[in-house]
Amino acid sequence: MLITLKIGTKIVLNEDVLSNIVSEVCELVLRGEKFIIVSSGAVGLGRKKLNFEGYATLSEKQALSSVGQIELMKLYQKLFGNFGMEVAQILVTYNDLNSRKSFLHLKNTINELLRMNVIPILNENDAVAVDEIKFGNNDILSALVSNTVIADKLIILTDVDGIYKDFGTSRQELIKVVDNVKEVSRFLKGKRFELSTGGMKTKIQAGFICMESGIECIIANGFRKGILKDVLYNGFGTRFVSENKLKSFKDRMLIVFKKKGVIVVDKGASEAIKNKKSLLPIGIVDVKGKFSVGDVVYIANENGDNIAIGITNYSSSEINKIKGKKSSEIGEVLGIRDFSEEVVHVDNMVLV
Ligand code: GLU
Repeated sequence: MLITLKIGTKIVLNEDVLSNIVSEVCELVLRGEKFIIVSSGAVGLGRKKLNFEGYATLSEKQALSSVGQIELMKLYQKLFGNFGMEVAQILVTYNDLNSRKSFLHLKNTINELLRMNVIPILNENDAVAVDEIKFGNNDILSALVSNTVIADKLIILTDVDGIYKDFGTSRQELIKVVDNVKEVSRFLKGKRFELSTGGMKTKIQAGFICMESGIECIIANGFRKGILKDVLYNGFGTRFVSENKLKSFKDRMLIVFKKKGVIVVDKGASEAIKNKKSLLPIGIVDVKGKFSVGDVVYIANENGDNIAIGITNYSSSEINKIKGKKSSEIGEVLGIRDFSEEVVHVDNMVLV
């Protein structure tokens, strides 16, 4: 089984806890499991190294991360070295997953390392990653990497046992399984939730990305000893599951590529897409975001649920002009002679 393991800064800064996790990884590797680690902690360790306290500007954080990344790798090298295992460092930006070529190279490099019995340790290349080419955080990075390498599971370790129902009240009941995006998407909006859990929002988003391709994602408590075995064999944590099956290479690329906007469609078009038909302008009711021809976009129904991801044949401003129109009217409305009848062709689309 190939497992992506996401480890957050709080865990990295606690060497005892990290060391327990590394020892469990090594034990599981001996049993035949394969691991890719996505680890944060570069900024945190950089702060420690330079005694930098308090607020840091973006460029200060980038500088701290480049100091801390060395510390981070030294730490992993030492901890895995205790078990005779080697580690490799891979620093990526979203751009590296956003083109077919680098997507392939990243996948091949990781697979080669796994064959060599080396543990790949990924982090965002903070020193160069700003805005457009940023994942935002390592939760999203770990979900996208899991898609790139076709991991069987993504385990996101944090400092709580998973997602709780009625968060913020005294009734704290753990949600064991999320199989419906709606169930927990209300958490994505609550500010209180965001503040009190420090990043549960992006963990949920990572869970949703995994659901798109049917990779099981589990959010669990990295501070509990033996957590990896408890996740794998005893059902610990909150699990995101879906009926979706792992998709083809092209489909996974669509899931991983950055979405530049959303095309909102009516009920008829939504049904047609689910029945593997192309998206025509007549079924489009709205466009969100600004995108160009060839960009990857979400196709959503009027309730706001994403139903597919696809490559658009028209820009957002063109779609605004042709939405609700028949395909035969496209040429006249846009003043062009050669045009495609489909806004998103079914061959360039993946259902999610
Ligand atoms: N790349 C950042 C670091 O290593 C962390 C980003 C995150 O925590 O999601 O410090």
